[in-house]
Amino acid sequence: MHNAPTPSVHDTAAPSASAFAATLAEWPAVRVRAVQAACTEADVRAALAGSLRPERALAALLSPAAAPHLEAMARRSAAVTRQRFGRVMQFYAPLYVSNVCINSCTYCGFNCKNQVARRRLTVDEAVREADYLANEGFRHLLLVAGEDPKGVPVSYFEELAGRLLGRFSSIGIEIYPMPEADYTRLVAAGVDLLTLYQETYDETLYSSLHPAGPKRDFHNRLAAIERGARAGIAFLGVGALQGLSDWRVENFHVGLHALWLQKEFWRSSVSVSFPRIRPAAGAFQPPVTVSDRDFVQTLCALRIVLPDAGLVLSTREPAALRDRLALLGVTRMSAGSRTSPGGYGTADSGGESEGQFAIADERGLAEMKQVVAGLGFDPVCKDWDPAYHAAAASAEVE
Ligand code: SF4
Repeated sequence: MHNAPTPSVHDTAAPSASAFAATLAEWPAVRVRAVQAACTEADVRAALAGSLRPERALAALLSPAAAPHLEAMARRSAAVTRQRFGRVMQFYAPLYVSNVCINSCTYCGFNCKNQVARRRLTVDEAVREADYLANEGFRHLLLVAGEDPKGVPVSYFEELAGRLLGRFSSIGIEIYPMPEADYTRLVAAGVDLLTLYQETYDETLYSSLHPAGPKRDFHNRLAAIERGARAGIAFLGVGALQGLSDWRVENFHVGLHALWLQKEFWRSSVSVSFPRIRPAAGAFQPPVTVSDRDFVQTLCALRIVLPDAGLVLSTREPAALRDRLALLGVTRMSAGSRTSPGGYGTADSGGESEGQFAIADERGLAEMKQVVAGLGFDPVCKDWDPAYHAAAASAEVE
């Protein structure tokens, strides 16, 4: 069944066209900067009070005028999160199945130009890695791969998801963009979550960061999350890599995208992530510094404007910061992550392979559960969202 309430918009779009692109075009960086520069402390207070339209509130809360109000933003963010999500922290684990990639993203360790150890897990090896994670206690699994459609085609993920179903309450993918028909196949196989970060919403910058490979196509990537949503994927994740450009503008666009997806694909849950660049093969140097304070302002702004969105935090961030951010609005964290295929050590016949980036928080699931429990959270590794979505779907049919 179509997942959008306005099928005409999507049905008339060309296969690779993003319907969100028109909204994005209304907010070029120059306009976002001008709006943010004009924001006053009164605008920030109005945003905190909920009396601004979401786009205006987002601009105000990410603006320099919000800096003196970070404490108030943090309090509001924490309160909104408690109200909407309770004191629950969900954990997931990434499972890298291939670091072969035909793209040359300048910031990524898997860039095809980097001379690094490559590895692609067989389905059996991936199942063994997943079994290890299941035994650790994870029930949310994120399958991750470079753009390797010949080595790990849709049929690979279909078979893998089919074999993992029952051991995990959620199977997500963070892989290359696919046609809608392939997403439909994956939904049928049990995939319920699609993470697809745009990396940057600045099309010119995007071109320079993606000089070769299919990922050069900015609009195809932008449209892919819509194809997944139309295919019925229940959980959609968007985000931008922090450190590539002006974080105030970039995260305005992230929030704008999430707001748009929530409206257009209201039957899916939307989550947002804002990963900072970490050291990786290729030694890419981020052109922009995003400080911890900038990071906190981003998190709070997105939480306040998107009260129902999941906020995802990976092990890219250091332990002490992750513990603080858990209190402010994060709802989903990874733990004990390995970013190389075979990294959990159960498929050791293929030798070492390169990780995508260096992990900053090495704590495993058991330790993280203790930490968040100590912070007053109920750590969960499974959830009731699939049941909620099933109930919503049957209510819709009735
Ligand atoms: S970011 Fe993704 S597509 Fe780009 S090089 Fe890395 S793995 Fe490949």
